[in-house]
Amino acid sequence: MKQSAELIMETAPWLVYIFTFLFGIVFGSFLNVCIYRIPEKQSIVSVPSHCMTCGKKLHWYELIPLFSWLALRGKCHGCKAKISPQYPIIEAANGLLCVLALFVKGLTVDFLLTCLLFSALLVISVIDARTFEIPFPIVIFIAVLGAVRLIFYHEHWLDTILGPAVMGALFLAIILVTGGKAMGGGDFKLVMAAGLFLGLKKSLLALFIASLFGSVIHIILMKALHKGRQLAFGPYLSAGFLVAALWGDRLLNLYLSFMGVT
Ligand SMILES: [Zn+2]
Repeated sequence: MKQSAELIMETAPWLVYIFTFLFGIVFGSFLNVCIYRIPEKQSIVSVPSHCMTCGKKLHWYELIPLFSWLALRGKCHGCKAKISPQYPIIEAANGLLCVLALFVKGLTVDFLLTCLLFSALLVISVIDARTFEIPFPIVIFIAVLGAVRLIFYHEHWLDTILGPAVMGALFLAIILVTGGKAMGGGDFKLVMAAGLFLGLKKSLLALFIASLFGSVIHIILMKALHKGRQLAFGPYLSAGFLVAALWGDRLLNLYLSFMGVT
């Protein structure tokens, strides 16, 4: 399987990239359904897609990711109500993240798992930013991805198992010390699940990046938009996990050589 994957990437890489992007935006439109329905406790499979304003059921040609929104110029065909640009943005973002994962990982099992991790983090980020809740089923999904990854890549099994253990203990300590004001139980579960996917070293790197992003962007938001002090940490954690999943090994090696360890 590995050889045929390499062969495809050598002969027609553009075909793989196009297919990956298309898969990404199609899966992205499913992510939109999750983002809207999970906080409402609605089923993500049984209710047919409909206009949020007039309730008109959508035809297949109104459901083509990215392109339908552009063709309809962001308006419902029935009632002319504006359709949130969040739909095409999430679809495009997921498509680009999948392409980025392919670019860094090549056509491997790790690439597939990383795409799914990014999709889950995208859903978590948007829901957390809106509702300050991190949906537990998506966290479980990330933990399952981590377990599958461990089956395929078990050479660093100790680091992998230490990931959720140390991250869990760290966040439990933070929650106990701050009385749950800085972090919530959702963050705690998320870092344990992602810790299993990334292992300890990359998780610590992700946490460092998340804190950096979080403090810088939050200060800018507070100044610019006069937003309150409450900080949804999920989006920043997700950004940290994303960077660590893609470039964690390189960044850690860079850090170690900088410190003169290697
Ligand atoms: Zn409508």
